[in-house]
Amino acid sequence: MFLTNRPIWAKVSSSLIFFSALILKLKRLFLLPVKPIFLNFAITYVCNGRCLMCDNWKRYREEPEKIKEELTFAQIGRFVKNNKDWLGNLKHIGLSGGEPLLRKDLVDIIRLFREELPWVKVGLQTNGLLPQPAQKVLSAILAFYPELSLAVSLDGLEKTHDQIRGVKGGYARVIKTIKIAQELGVKEISAGMTVTEKNYEEIMDVKKIVEEFGLEFAFYPADSGDYYHRKRAKSLFPQKIKESLLSAFALFPGDYFRDNFRLQLLGKRQRKLPCYSGLTSFVIDPYGEVKPCVLRNESLGNIKNEPLQKILTGEKAKKIRQEIKKCSCWSLCEVSTSAILDPWDVLFWFLFYANKRKFWQGFKEKQLRLI
Ligand code: SF4
Ligand code: SF4
Repeated sequence: MFLTNRPIWAKVSSSLIFFSALILKLKRLFLLPVKPIFLNFAITYVCNGRCLMCDNWKRYREEPEKIKEELTFAQIGRFVKNNKDWLGNLKHIGLSGGEPLLRKDLVDIIRLFREELPWVKVGLQTNGLLPQPAQKVLSAILAFYPELSLAVSLDGLEKTHDQIRGVKGGYARVIKTIKIAQELGVKEISAGMTVTEKNYEEIMDVKKIVEEFGLEFAFYPADSGDYYHRKRAKSLFPQKIKESLLSAFALFPGDYFRDNFRLQLLGKRQRKLPCYSGLTSFVIDPYGEVKPCVLRNESLGNIKNEPLQKILTGEKAKKIRQEIKKCSCWSLCEVSTSAILDPWDVLFWFLFYANKRKFWQGFKEKQLRLI
């Protein structure tokens, strides 16, 4: 139903996909700027989580005055209104944090994006630890934007989740948030698990719980990037969790991200997919700094002081894009966005590695969830 009812522009756009991908590839090669397609907007670092793998919640304990530097609603509004041309190709904005629900103006921010950039899909990432505020905020948002998507974190069974997130009763609150979101009618909800040495043995248990709710399950090894720890750190998934990851990834032989991660863990395939972070996808942090991805801390410029066009076409952006050509990681969000834009490696994997039946099955399930 979803496929046959596609509007004509969608059919035309899919026939042009390889042509567009080729243009993007050339732009990446010659370091030419592109209008952003994906934006991860971290709207606050304030957080009620106390997660073991993240330092965000400590920021304002160490530097309480710094909170005043977070973007105000007026500054976000000016950014959106004054940069409409360079935001014209945007397809998706993911609102993250910290905990975005702790911003009092969250509903206004989403309304602003809907009014000013109505073609853009907006998603909200939450730690799920605030069920009551979530109920209020989600009802208000769904009243004007029923297509909102929601990503909730679930890092293990009750004891493990609470230990990792550092919040007693956190697991129960996450489950409550999921139920509230479902009752309110949020159509697209996913639950994500960050795999570390604390929870790797519970991947399959969490998968089961999430699927019983009928949600999409995502799991990914913890990134140890600048965004979380503000300095480069070693990988958080040592050898001992490799076996668990391999068995869990093996259940998804039709999923590009997971299957390639598995092949890489087995030493059978290196990442071939070029990274488009800093070209088509960006992160804006709560202070307005534009960064290429959540793992790299270099700022291309600040939206408080400069137009987006100047930031993206500047020498600094060009230099960072050059460095990214040699950069490699398996951060789920970034790999997914690059894979959408550069189908060549996906096609190669599909032809020579993928389980085709599982691939189509996963594709259909994804479509059904969206109907
Ligand atoms: S991982 Fe997320 S929920 Fe946990 S402290 Fe960091 S920002 Fe907060
Ligand atoms: S490969 Fe891409 S997403 Fe990963 S750290 Fe480098 S720039 Fe960021």
